[in-house]
This record gives sequence, structure tokens and C-alpha cells, in this order.
Amino acid sequence: MKITIVGAGNVGGACASFIAAKDIVNKILLLDISKEKAMGKALDIWNSSQLLTNNTKVIGLGNNEYRKTKNSKICIITSGLIRNPGMTRDQLITKNAVIIKEVAKNLLKYSNKALFIIVSNPLDIMTYVAFKELNISRLKIFGMSGLLDTARYNSYIATALSCNPNNIQSMLIGEHGDTMMPLLRYTTISGIPIGELLSKSNLNFIIKKTKTTGGEILNLLKTSAWYAPGAAIANMVETIIKKSKNIITCSCYLTGEYGLNNVFLGVPVILGNNGIEKIIELQLNKEERKKMNTSSLKIKKMIAQFL
Ligand code: NAD
Repeated sequence: MKITIVGAGNVGGACASFIAAKDIVNKILLLDISKEKAMGKALDIWNSSQLLTNNTKVIGLGNNEYRKTKNSKICIITSGLIRNPGMTRDQLITKNAVIIKEVAKNLLKYSNKALFIIVSNPLDIMTYVAFKELNISRLKIFGMSGLLDTARYNSYIATALSCNPNNIQSMLIGEHGDTMMPLLRYTTISGIPIGELLSKSNLNFIIKKTKTTGGEILNLLKTSAWYAPGAAIANMVETIIKKSKNIITCSCYLTGEYGLNNVFLGVPVILGNNGIEKIIELQLNKEERKKMNTSSLKIKKMIAQFL
């Protein structure tokens, strides 16, 4: 079984190496407009195979080699520009849309049964752009967002409580951006409601930090994060390949769920070997529904304005 990752930048390279280390696919094709970059990273990752005890071949490809990606089980799109410090995710829209359309079209030509995971920002909009270009079932295309945002949220709760992040169960839905919505009433630590362990001001701090982590890392590194995003993509791929049917929050095309239509937003789903098996509709309260509507309106406005 093989998968393709387009974009051999920081995120594409990291997710290739995390997926390879899991030893769950035979071959990873890493494609970039810079063939040298794709080949260099592929070689470096393959060189680590014995050390990380896996047998995943990683091969670098250039932009004119899409035919070698034929029959990929999963296509992951990480190509595109990143935010410069001070630049919002939204300002990336027009330029990245052009790249996403071209890449999606090329991938579909050779892998028309593949599942598509979109990573490029602004995430919910780029997933929409790819979906419209691909014209495939909405169950076969989703954006990587909620898994990363939830992992960030959990890491800060673990810091505040000096506990293991793996003891935390939580739910974060909505936009991959400023209006993302951590749901405190779905957050527990080994079954204990978070409100019993942390004060309101601690929780507000954690929520704010979760929402601003992307920007914080951008300011520190002068580029986007890649370790945690790469790990989140690898977890999604593992869930799909191993048929473990984990419930994962990812950006999905909504057709009436949560009262919303024609928009991609982060919601919990059961992710199976053939894509989204079920979109889980949480019983949101009035305030939470209002926030989901706000996210949806924001995304739709951006699409109308810039695409
Ligand atoms: P990067 O600049 O390191 O890598 C991007 C790569 O895309 C480059 O190697 C570039 O050559 C390649 N590329 C550009 N146009 C291409 C094309 N037409 N065909 C093939 N390759 C092309 O950037 P990065 O840090 O890896 O981030 C990639 C994208 O992922 C950005 O849009 C970033 O904002 C986004 N991102 C999303 C999340 C998330 O949570 N969804 C997290 C981090 C980064």
C-alpha cells in the first residue's frame, strides 16, 4: 500500500517521517515543485528506517512525476505558502487556492479512489477549495485541524495539572482559527470533569493559549509549526490504515449537521478505512450553536470575498 504527500516542506517532511516510523504503509511518495528538496528529505527519512525499525520506502518526486503516485490509498496535501509573522491565515487564501486546485487535480488523475487529507491553510477554506475541484464524495475528503488543536489544548491542561496528557479526554470543534471552540463540558481527566481540577482563570488561560499557539510558534520560529501537525496527520493515517475507527475531530463538509450547510468545519467523526463513517452530532447548547454559526459565516464570507 502506498500514500502520497504533496509538499516536502516542514509539515510534509515531518509527517512523512512520522508515518514511516509507524511502519504501516509500504511506500510514501513525497512530491514537491522542488524535486531536490523532496528527494533529499525522502533519502534522509529512508536512511533512518533501520534505526526506527520500519521498512517504509520513501521516494522523492518532482512536479512532473504525478503518474508515479498512481493508486495511492491516501493523498495528503501540505503544499502551499505559510503565514509570515503578522500575516493571518486568511491572507493566504488566494495564493494557496491556486496551488491546492492544481495539486488536487493532478492527484485525482492517478488516484481517483484515494482519501484526501488537506493540511494547507487556511485549512477549512483550502479543504473546501479541494473538495470543489475534486468533485468526490464528501466522506473521502477532510482537513487536519481538530486533532492538532485538541492535542495542543490537552498539552496545556497536562502542564497545568502536572499530569500525563494521555489521561485527558477532550473535544474541540469549529474553525481551525480564531473562532475554534474548546468544549469544557466534554473535557475530563480520567473521568474527572475539568472544572473540578482547574479554576476558571486557569481554564481561560489554557483556551486562549490553545487558540494562539499557531501564531506564537510562528513568531518564535518565523515559520509554521511542523512536529505536532506532522504527528496529527500521521495519527489520522494510522487510524485509516489500521481500521481502528477512532473518533477524531477533523474539518468536514456539512450538509445539515449542526444546522449548517455548504461549509467545512471541525466536527467529531468516526474515521474508517474508506473515509468518514459517521459524523457525530453533539448536543450543543444555544451559545455553542451560535459560535458554530459565527465560524461558518466567517468562512463563507472569506470564500465569497477571496475566491
Ligand atoms: P513549507 O514552506 O515548509 O512547505 C511548503 C512546500 O510546498 C514547499 O516545499 C513548496 O516547495 C511546496 N509547494 C509549493 N507549491 C507547490 C506545488 N504547486 N506543488 C508541489 N509543491 C508545492 O510550509 P509548511 O510549514 O510545510 O506548511 C505547509 C502548509 O501547511 C502551509 O499552508 C501551512 O500554513 C499549513 N499548516 C497547516 C497546519 C494545520 O493545522 N492544518 C499546521 C501547520 C501548517
